Amino acid sequence: MASRSPKAVADELVPLAQRVRYMQMFRVLMVLAVLGFSAYSRSTLDADLTLLLAASAGYMLLSGLGEMLWRHLGKRNLHLFGALLIVDGIYLAYVNLHSGGISSPFRSLTLLHLIAVTLLASYRTGLKLAIWHSLLLVSVYQSEVATATQDGVDGAALNVQFHELVAFVSIFWLVALATATFSAVNERELRRRRFDLEALAMMAQRLETTNDAHAVAEIMLDSLLDSFGFRRGVVLGARGYKVALLADTADDEEGAGRFLGVDQIMHKAWETRQTQLVAGLDRRRNPCLSGLIGSSSNVIVVPLIAEGGAAGVCVLEHSIKLGSRVERRVVTMVERFCSQGAMALRNAELVQELQDMATTDPLTKIANRRAFESTLHLELARAARAGTSLSLIMMDIDHFKKLNDTHGHQKGDEVLRAVANELQQQSRSFDTVSRFGGEEFAIVLPGCELAEAMQSAERFRHAITALPSTTPVTMSVGVASFPAHATDAGSLIEQADLALYEAKRGGRDQVAAPAEAVVVAEANAFMSFLESNPN
Ligand code: GH3
Ligand code: MG
Ligand code: MG
Repeated sequence: MASRSPKAVADELVPLAQRVRYMQMFRVLMVLAVLGFSAYSRSTLDADLTLLLAASAGYMLLSGLGEMLWRHLGKRNLHLFGALLIVDGIYLAYVNLHSGGISSPFRSLTLLHLIAVTLLASYRTGLKLAIWHSLLLVSVYQSEVATATQDGVDGAALNVQFHELVAFVSIFWLVALATATFSAVNERELRRRRFDLEALAMMAQRLETTNDAHAVAEIMLDSLLDSFGFRRGVVLGARGYKVALLADTADDEEGAGRFLGVDQIMHKAWETRQTQLVAGLDRRRNPCLSGLIGSSSNVIVVPLIAEGGAAGVCVLEHSIKLGSRVERRVVTMVERFCSQGAMALRNAELVQELQDMATTDPLTKIANRRAFESTLHLELARAARAGTSLSLIMMDIDHFKKLNDTHGHQKGDEVLRAVANELQQQSRSFDTVSRFGGEEFAIVLPGCELAEAMQSAERFRHAITALPSTTPVTMSVGVASFPAHATDAGSLIEQADLALYEAKRGGRDQVAAPAEAVVVAEANAFMSFLESNPN
């Protein structure tokens, strides 16, 4: 586990200022008890009331000044806190000394003081205070012995006092050690919880920095492994009847994004919405997970649920030592980490869906007009920078209205999908095929000159004509290139459109490029563009 930061130490569960206030209240109660009991048992108590009153007033003054100084300093001052505890000890020793010595009824206040400090400050402070109180008790006994010897008290009485001292100091230390131990256990538990919550908050903060499902899964796994010391883990995203590997501690780059089957234990986790703890994975029932994690380990399978549905599953290898149990606290915390992670995963998926919706044509599933325009601008700027060519192919299905009228819109849609799919198949991986409008398609071909683009256009046209369909289709195609025909996106589209119009006019089912005159005019325009933009 990582060590606590100074900030975390300063920022205690109960602020120190509040503890100092409690301590101050305890002091007032202590003084009231001393004065009240002394006044009440005036006749039986061997005490000088005026002396106790003066000592109590002095003590209250000192501790009051101490508290004022604390507020004035305005920050944690542990030295001042310690100094006030020393003063407490001296006051109690003084009260004891002047109210019957080691057998004074006020000695139990020393014990109470010790318990209060151990619980309010820390077990370490408590142990240091126990030493201080013990020294003071011995001093009280010694000054009692000195006074008694002066007064000529016999040895037997002193012997009784000595036994009282030993008995009380022994009980005192027993209480000191017991309180310190319990307080240390509580302190450790509180610190651990605080650490867990801090780790959870840190993960939430990291999750805010990304919208990518893989990055979300990596952050989740990272945080879980860091905070709870798991050996290994994977995060899988639910994709219908399959799961996709989103993150794996084995850092299997090739495996990332790969689809796997849904194991029985994943089903159970989603169905019951409960974490499954298993000692060893059955290879037959859980082939996917035992392939990833191994079958001979203790495994925690946490369902990732978001918006009421299964978003995935987080699988952690607790230990390979069979029978070693994972603490309930750890399971609860892991579940909290996972529920935050599940929400982040769902958000990432929604963002992805939105991005896809904004750039994809819903009918043909290829890029839409918006994606086409941004790609064209981007690629044109890149081509201008690199001094390379770029071509644009515009294609329009011939007599498509007639096809719709004859065979219905459903058939028309089917043809549009088939054409889009074929164009996608025929293009290079870095070309962008898009639906420009109704039955018009646009293809951006980066790094492609006119001659090469004309060849590709012919290939596309042939491929469409050769589509196996009950309703044969043909397409007219217009091609324009950067920088030969145009230097900006608008003009390039215009030139390709004009060429397409030429192809239609020429009898359809053919490829056309801009007329020669346009080429010359545009070439001149490009030369002047280059001159004005030498870089
Ligand atoms: P041309 O050879 O001159 O291009 O003739 P055309 O009939 O293809 O051209 P026109 O522009 O007259 O008609 C285009 C038709 O495309 C009209 C419209 O109903 C149809 N269309 C546009 N979008 C869709 C669509 O999403 N689905 C279907 N089925 N038809 C569409
Ligand atoms: Mg049209
Ligand atoms: Mg048409």
